[in-house]
Amino acid sequence: MRTLTKDRALVEKLFHPMGVDGVYARSQQYEDVVQALQALISRRRPAGAEVLRFPPVMSGRQLEKQGYLNSFPQLLGCVCCLHGSDAEIGAAVEEANRGADWTLQTSSADLVLSPAACYPVYPLAAERGTVPENGLLFDVAADCFRHEPSRDIDRFQSFRMREFVCIGSPAKVATFRDEWMVSAVSLAADLGLPQEMDRASDPFFGRVGQLMAANQVEQALKFELLIPVRSEGGPTACMSFNYHRDHFGKTWTLVQEDGETAHSGCVAFGIDRLAVALFANHGTDTGDWPESVRALLRLN
Ligand code: AMP
Ligand code: ZN
Repeated sequence: MRTLTKDRALVEKLFHPMGVDGVYARSQQYEDVVQALQALISRRRPAGAEVLRFPPVMSGRQLEKQGYLNSFPQLLGCVCCLHGSDAEIGAAVEEANRGADWTLQTSSADLVLSPAACYPVYPLAAERGTVPENGLLFDVAADCFRHEPSRDIDRFQSFRMREFVCIGSPAKVATFRDEWMVSAVSLAADLGLPQEMDRASDPFFGRVGQLMAANQVEQALKFELLIPVRSEGGPTACMSFNYHRDHFGKTWTLVQEDGETAHSGCVAFGIDRLAVALFANHGTDTGDWPESVRALLRLN
């Protein structure tokens, strides 16, 4: 493995600061790689998958209904606006001009910043009625937000996530996830990225959360593909492979033709982490990258 490019050198080369940790303006070269990665993943899209692109916000009520607030309250961000008449809004602005904090006058707009790309797909699929015998496949993407401010090059507050989602029988979902765990390893290998697959857990909140995380590991519900990104510390989870069992099926009444609750699973590509991983491992100039990697990404 070649030496990893140092964190700070990467940040300076790929991003421009925007005054907040984990929130960056992206350079042209970085964005070209992001587009190339997205296109490569599209070429590997499972046959029959329906493409849906979500905005960076989703219904707060939908997210609450599936239990997000109890599981990850520390990561969630919501959209708040000034509500009321012109006079009320004008008064809030006047106060802000006198130095008051205008955000204290805001209230929730029933929108949250999407913390993962796949969440809006389950209620949408449920609206369509019974899940067909062959199951449902989706290719989804969104700009995601997680409140984890950090100066580390692999931890953003705002980042792009792409996911393939399978809804259907437990067997269908298991096969989908197993096959993708194999495909993802070869995808990363073709990209010249050193890697390791490991069981993982989500960062559930609080003491109860620790039990949920232990349970998740024990039942092998989540795997992550780890790739070295930072010059110090352990490798970084750049893709995840999740089996939700009937969690979303029960929440949204997703029912199979035989009357059983549908299961679901997703494969998540952390697009920004994968892009940073490429630069960290191959260097800050794409012109110097191995020819096979440039060819695979069609950078030539
Ligand atoms: P998760 O739902 O936590 O499995 O996240 C799916 C994928 O999104 C992960 O495998 C990461 O590649 C990516 N991801 C998660 N959190 C962040 C973050 N703070 N910054 C950048 N990428 C992230
Ligand atoms: Zn997902």
